[in-house]
Amino acid sequence: MNCPYCGYADSKVIDSRDVNDGVRRRRQCLNCRARFTTYERLQSVGLFVIKKDRRREEFSQEKLLSGIRKACEKRPLPTGAVDRLADDIEARLYRSGRSEISSSVIGDMVMAGLKKLDHIAFIRFASVYRDFADITDLKREVDTLLDDGAELGPPTSQLPLIPDEEPVGLSKSGQRRRR
Ligand SMILES: [Zn+2]
Repeated sequence: MNCPYCGYADSKVIDSRDVNDGVRRRRQCLNCRARFTTYERLQSVGLFVIKKDRRREEFSQEKLLSGIRKACEKRPLPTGAVDRLADDIEARLYRSGRSEISSSVIGDMVMAGLKKLDHIAFIRFASVYRDFADITDLKREVDTLLDDGAELGPPTSQLPLIPDEEPVGLSKSGQRRRR
């Protein structure tokens, strides 16, 4: 595949990974050194994101990554955690075999990933992505952290966002339902 940035024909493979239905290769252009990802077999399918305003846009790994990076800025995360999350989500999207996917589905996947990774990053991402109307919405999102925390324990990489206490009265019904 030609470099999507400069059109140069040659690239080297930096990383290669099996996904369900093919091989995902991280490549670097030998000319402009830009990095991009190819999917053998699945690449031809193409993946489009349907935005909130119904516009259709080709899926961009770089956009996904930069959104996650922004949320994780200056957070004490293990090396490579952000890239792994982006890679993971991307692989799952391609594995789904769909050619179109709603941006809100991707947003939810990022939220689910960040929730396990770092609560501050989760809140940051949620506040941008969910576009909270008021503090009640934000609180509901934080409550889901308490819910999950009761089952999974807090991420080990950070101090608790909220002091430890039993989330009494918080039940499954307190969880946010998406569509
Ligand atoms: Zn290039």
